[in-house]
Amino acid sequence: MRNARLWQRVLGLVRTVVEGVEFDEDADAVVVSVRPLKGGRRRCGRCGRRAPWYDRGEGSRRWRGLDLGTVRVLLEAEAPRVNCPTHGPTVVQVPWARHGAGHTYAFDDTVAWLAVQCSKTAVTELMRIAWRTVGSIITRVQVDVDATVDRLAGLRRIGIDEISYKRGYKFLTVVVDHDSGHLVWAKPGRDDATLHSFFDALGEDRCAQITHISADAADWIERVVKARCANAVRCADPFHVVAWATDALDEVRRQAWNDARAQARSEPPRPRGRPRADTPHQLGHRERARAITHARYALWKNPENLTESQHDKLAWIAKTDPRLHRAYLLKEGLRTVFVFKGDAGKEALDRWICWARRCRIPPFVKLQRRIVKHRAAIDAALDHGLSNALIESTNTKIRLLTRVAFGFHGPEPLIALARLALGGHKPNLPHRR
Ligand SMILES: [Zn+2]
Repeated sequence: MRNARLWQRVLGLVRTVVEGVEFDEDADAVVVSVRPLKGGRRRCGRCGRRAPWYDRGEGSRRWRGLDLGTVRVLLEAEAPRVNCPTHGPTVVQVPWARHGAGHTYAFDDTVAWLAVQCSKTAVTELMRIAWRTVGSIITRVQVDVDATVDRLAGLRRIGIDEISYKRGYKFLTVVVDHDSGHLVWAKPGRDDATLHSFFDALGEDRCAQITHISADAADWIERVVKARCANAVRCADPFHVVAWATDALDEVRRQAWNDARAQARSEPPRPRGRPRADTPHQLGHRERARAITHARYALWKNPENLTESQHDKLAWIAKTDPRLHRAYLLKEGLRTVFVFKGDAGKEALDRWICWARRCRIPPFVKLQRRIVKHRAAIDAALDHGLSNALIESTNTKIRLLTRVAFGFHGPEPLIALARLALGGHKPNLPHRR
């Protein structure tokens, strides 16, 4: 065929001969007939080992390739089977696509790159594939990346965490490298067996190299870490300690809201036509309950990220609900402890504990007891200056991905997406290496 080499270059094919190109009206696509370059021995599609011919298989197959201009491209070739000593009769390996894939390498790699860079809609519309197909593609791309990089090499300081997905019904156990901020390992489940499989993958020698492990105070993590990495310093994850304070604050806020609602029930209905109160202090209990609901984000957010109206809400709480405001200050105080780190952080934590012990707000008195109980692990985190910002941002990103991954088939595509995006080995576009 004339221009065969030109087509081969345009389509980014290697070790492949282009035998014909035509436009297929029925498929509404350019169909390119190809075959592997002669001289390449027949190999098993699964393991890549040389194997003898078996049969013609199911005849010719088509693979979706990258679009040419505005039209879709399909590669067409025979897909005979070889008789692999290990896998038995298996479709032969082809140089343009992964085994069992309906898309070419170039197509797969482009989808993986897009999935990490763009929105769900951008990927599915641009590539004209379903989100589930994106899930299958990134899973197989990820398997290939894993075969070339050892993510568990050189780990010293790690963080172990559980992340919920499927609207909080299911969990992943994830391991993050504190030094690089990369996600190094993830698996569905949150129990001893799941975490043991991480340490199994790490191996005994590399377990011994781990110097610090941070985690929230979950018993199962504590148990497994003790058994597998006895010498590592166990640190509390500052991210989780601050989250405990946010939970305590939320409890106080809900209590304030319930009180306002209870008082609202005994409040006489407002006469028609009466103007609304001008200033927040004069709000009735009904409006007050509503205002507390709306103040939720102002209470949760770090002060430096507050919007102007959230600042106003906080100021209103300070004036009208000193107890809720004190709870807010307690939460912020605890967050500040981890900004100081080291001895300054420990002193600040001492002061915080005294303050919380006498605050007469039950959720914070309880939190104070919990913190005293885990004091050694928290001090270790302060001493070793584990970067909370790094872990918090990785955590936030994984949680965002769990939402993006909604609609995928099972947890594997979610894990693949998280590892491609946060594992430190982002996918490359085809032929750009
Ligand atoms: Zn094989």
